[in-house]
Amino acid sequence: MADTKYIFVTGGVTSSLGKGIISASLAKLLQARGLSVTIQKLDPYLNVDPGTLNPYEHGECYVTDDGAETDLDLGHYERFLNVPTSQGNNVTTGRIYKSVIEKERRGDFLGKTVQIIPHITDEIKRRIKLLGKKNKHDIVITEIGGTVGDIESLPYVEAVRQLKWELEDKVMVIHLTLVPYLRASGELKTKPTQHSVKTLLEAGVQPDVLVLRTERELTEDIRKKVALFCNVNIKSVIQSIDVSTIYEVPIKMQEEELDIRVLEKFGLPIKKNPELKAWREFLQKYKEPQEFVDIAIVGKYVELADAYKSIAESFVHAGAVNNAKVNIHWIHSESITKENTAEIFKDIKGILVAPGFGHRGIEGKIEAVRYARENNVPFFGICLGMQCAVIEFARNVLKMNKANSSEMDEKTPYPVIDIMEEQKNVLEKGGTMRLGAYPCNLIKGSKSFEAYGTECIKERHRHRYEFNDKYLNDFKIAGMTEVGINPDTNLVEIVEIPEHKWFVGVQFHPEYRSTVVQPHPLFISFIKATLE
Ligand code: GLN
Repeated sequence: MADTKYIFVTGGVTSSLGKGIISASLAKLLQARGLSVTIQKLDPYLNVDPGTLNPYEHGECYVTDDGAETDLDLGHYERFLNVPTSQGNNVTTGRIYKSVIEKERRGDFLGKTVQIIPHITDEIKRRIKLLGKKNKHDIVITEIGGTVGDIESLPYVEAVRQLKWELEDKVMVIHLTLVPYLRASGELKTKPTQHSVKTLLEAGVQPDVLVLRTERELTEDIRKKVALFCNVNIKSVIQSIDVSTIYEVPIKMQEEELDIRVLEKFGLPIKKNPELKAWREFLQKYKEPQEFVDIAIVGKYVELADAYKSIAESFVHAGAVNNAKVNIHWIHSESITKENTAEIFKDIKGILVAPGFGHRGIEGKIEAVRYARENNVPFFGICLGMQCAVIEFARNVLKMNKANSSEMDEKTPYPVIDIMEEQKNVLEKGGTMRLGAYPCNLIKGSKSFEAYGTECIKERHRHRYEFNDKYLNDFKIAGMTEVGINPDTNLVEIVEIPEHKWFVGVQFHPEYRSTVVQPHPLFISFIKATLE
């Protein structure tokens, strides 16, 4: 295709309407028609990236192959498209300002006054166009975080207005709003949508398509009313009804012809609807499981499901492969003690100890590992979860009293988990961890090797501490072995207890790489073990 086309997805009325899922679903439909599509998220906050935010703020921090710490929506993009994203797919206001101010300090603006328009808006437009140019995508979908009308979103909406002029028919705007149902009067209400479109119009942007989030079917009258008041074709009033799983949304959007509206707008050929065969097969397996399995996720942010988004989605994918539905029990690590593990985990068939930072809840995580190890319950430790498995083994099997990670206890007599050499002199917190994809070689015969079916893998990382290889031999003799090693640095990436039914701890984050069409092998293998 000659020129890249740009689709902007804005949101009105309220946050959390699912712009990320609508963007990913549209991208999926266009991809299924043979177009190369990428999705970008613009976040209107001042943090340079979400890496320094705790999960209570914006949920999970998602890490890309190239080591960018990004918004969790990028996880949805990858899970839907099965194509890796990178640093350019997530840009924050902080990053935009930082680069403009750095240019100013270098003297790039030649004595000019540096202003929001044009300098900030130019930088926003540059970052949007970069994705089209650099990677030669046919379509770039840019999701604008926040809600139109917010002070923070103004420069982004202004950049969209300018791009509509500059790129003319290569740009379209999809606006997502809410049509609430008022139980008292038994009616769906369109006024919030009208107001939010008006706000967008005040900023000079006429949306091409409106996607209306609703709990109930929209009547023809409602669609007509919205079309009339908001100045769009009735065919471009799209219903987004609540569904039981996010993976149903592409199917719904296909029924509503969202992708066809896009093709029409850009004058692209409209062939027959793609079948989405693999997608539908997955959905069917997910919706009609033959078995149910109860899994515990032990973490300290469990009151917020978004904090472990990718892990939860990995279980959805891996469950479907095993024809099973995974019931996740979220267990707060601070609630676990040595005395109550038997009660807490009595009906649990597998335990996953989640990633994390800092000492809060760590002792509960260690007790969860102990329960899994001693009772031969399948155990999966991810990052801090793997580190807890190492600490537990040191304390309770190797009898290394007060063994710990030096992150939790600097004075521990047995720092079985220790700061990485390259991290010792790092002072800045932002973007300085060991981040992104690194290679790892697997030992034949291990559970991990069996799961992956290959010796060389690559997985994504986000940590500062690692297994202290000074103790490797002690662990090996006592029954915990390293089965995954980084070939360049010799860092231990995977530990297993071969005698155990399924006990795997990984220093990396497999959850970032699980997608609908490529569920992660370790999650598949873990669920399989819990079903046996
Ligand atoms: N806090 C640990 C470290 O920095 C684990 C990090 C994680 O779980 N992502 O090494």
